[in-house]
Amino acid sequence: MLPRKEFPTKGLEGAPSNDIGWHFGTLVPNTKGNVVCKLCDKVVKGGITRFKEHIVHKTDNIASCPNVTGVLRESMMNILKESNTKKIDKKRRKDEFLSQLRDEEDEHEEFIDEVFDIKQATRESIQSQHEWHRREELK
Ligand SMILES: [Zn+2]
Repeated sequence: MLPRKEFPTKGLEGAPSNDIGWHFGTLVPNTKGNVVCKLCDKVVKGGITRFKEHIVHKTDNIASCPNVTGVLRESMMNILKESNTKKIDKKRRKDEFLSQLRDEEDEHEEFIDEVFDIKQATRESIQSQHEWHRREELK
């Protein structure tokens, strides 16, 4: 089984959002996304996403956290992966929704065509009625 750990961020003091990264970091006041690591006291610049990379050792662009444990790192990675999958899922659902909308639009056009035909037919029948009346009057 994959290591599973919860990292609650709800109601965390100073956390600007429910982002899981705030479980490990604190925003430096009056900065644009500088985050102090609670595990190693290092300041990571560039926002919470970069800070999470510091925790999961994702890139070489950013110093990895020396104090993060293997289990913690893997749990964090799994959670990040899950949220990525959810994002992709959401995008797919949105695409499906949009293509459905397009289908409906086509139907809508057909409907408009029908209404137009009916109107056209009504107009013609009114016209012929008029003509009939006129012919009757001329008699
Ligand atoms: Zn750290």
